[in-house]
Formats: sequence, structure tokens, C-alpha cells
Amino acid sequence: MHDLWFYEKHTDGYEVRWRITNVLHREATPYQQLAVLETIEWGRILVLDGVLQLAEKDEYVYHEMIAHVVMNSHSHPESVLIIGGGDGGALREVLKHQQVKNVDLVEIDQRVVEVSRQYFPQVAGSFDDPRAHLHIADGFDFVKTSDRAYDVIIVDSSDPIGPSEKLFSVDFYLDLDRILKSDGMVVVQSESPVFYAHHFAACHSNLLQVYPNVAVYLAPVATYVSGPWAFTIGSKQHEPTIINNQQPVLSDLKYYTADLHKAVFCLPRYVQDLIPKPE
Ligand code: SAM
Repeated sequence: MHDLWFYEKHTDGYEVRWRITNVLHREATPYQQLAVLETIEWGRILVLDGVLQLAEKDEYVYHEMIAHVVMNSHSHPESVLIIGGGDGGALREVLKHQQVKNVDLVEIDQRVVEVSRQYFPQVAGSFDDPRAHLHIADGFDFVKTSDRAYDVIIVDSSDPIGPSEKLFSVDFYLDLDRILKSDGMVVVQSESPVFYAHHFAACHSNLLQVYPNVAVYLAPVATYVSGPWAFTIGSKQHEPTIINNQQPVLSDLKYYTADLHKAVFCLPRYVQDLIPKPE
């Protein structure tokens, strides 16, 4: 067997590597380097600019947790906006809620959607749902000009470099606030509190400038750098840490449960210490 490895470089002192059996796809899109690799331990992986975005074996953890916490904290999420998320994983989870009437998904890179549909049909299989509407556009520009109103907004972006950077800014959060209904909620993937603690803390303080209630929860994503992954909710009214949705919690999930909803907001001390206190 060829000795092929994919190296995910984080700093000069730290990289993670996966042994692979095949390079299924590789291209330079107008926005980024995109690859699909076959690994030995984690199934197929989607890689953007050298950073793993999803692995077949554990993608359900991240996608369930970015979607179902906020979908259950909100009392009646019918209209949802997803920024990024071109692999379709968050969309798949949101559409499991029968009360959802409309989901707009705004992905900057059409090739991420096309390649995900081809190589990850179990993840990207929901784009044909009649409730789903795909917009190929920059999410930052989309929200600036949008006149729609959403119950829930999910920011499923890549790391805050390149075109994703502005998706972590106060400006962007102010625009989200404008297009959220009066009891709307936003959830943001807010990076590793271990390895990218500065990004995590900055995201929190930016959300605090806009939303009266900001809450953090964690999920372990084995294939993301350092493991624990943070999600940060900004809420106008609903308390994020409890289930306000009157619909029964979906029972066919692999990670999220009603008990877990309460547990994930209990944060270890080192994460509490990273969170800026409101002034
Ligand atoms: N779960 C993943 C993670 O944290 O590694 C991220 C999922 S998804 C693949 C991220 C997507 O955000 C990418 O497909 C990327 O093209 C998209 N993206 C980046 N910047 C964007 C922008 N300004 N507007 C819309 N989509 C953007």
C-alpha cells in the first residue's frame, strides 16, 4: 500500500495527520483549495485550504449540535437562515424539524455544494427538499441587503481567515440582528476554546455587543483540532439553556438529547475564564 498522508498544519509546532488511501477529488475553486480524501480511520473527509471540514465518521456530532440546540431553545423555529454550511450537514439536521417552513442557505463557493453532493450524499442530500433554498453568495453581503425575517440563524462558517473572517465581526452580527425576528436567535460555530482561544473569546465579546443573552456550549468533535468545539448563541428573548420548543425532541438522532441540551451549557472552569464578562 502507498504510504499517503494528509497533514493538517496548525502552527510551526503542531500538525495532525491522517493516513489516506485515495485522493478522490482535488481542485482550486475561485475561493479556496478543495479536496476529498479517503482516510483509513475516519472515512471520507472534506478539506478546504488544508483544514478538515467534515469526516464521514463523526460529522453527526457537529451537525446535530450546531442545529438542534438552537432549534429547540427557540419556541417555534419556522424560518431559518444558514450562512456557510455548503456541505449540507446543518441543513439536513434543520429540515428534520417538521415545523420548519423555509431554510435559506447562503454559501459563497458553489463547488463546495457540488462536490459535497457528489462525494457525501448522506450529508448533502437535503438540497432538493422543497423547503430549502440555496443562494450562492457571500453571506456578509446577503445579510446586508436581505429584507427577510428569520427565527433562527446558523453561522456554519470555516475558520475566521479569508472570506469567513468578516462572519465573526460586530458589523455582521448587527446585520443578523436586523433580519432576526424580535425573539430570534443566532448560533455561531465559535472555534476551539483550547487551541483557538483568542478566536473563541473575540466571537463571544462581539456577540455580547449586540445580543442581550449570550451563551456558550461545547461538543467534542474528535476530528477538529484539539477536540472540544464551542458554539455561541446570541438570543433576543428565549433562554438558550432550556428547551422552549413545544414539539417533542427528535428521537432518531445520534448525539443530541434533551438531557444533553442542559448539560452542554455547564462549562469547565478554563472555558468560563475565557468568557468576557458583560460591562
Ligand atoms: N463545519 C465546518 C468547520 O467548522 O470546519 C465548516 C462547514 S462549511 C464547509 C464552511 C463553509 O463556509 C465553506 O463551504 C465556505 O466556503 C463557506 N464560507 C466561507 N466564507 C463564507 C462567506 N463569506 N459567505 C458564505 N459562505 C462562506
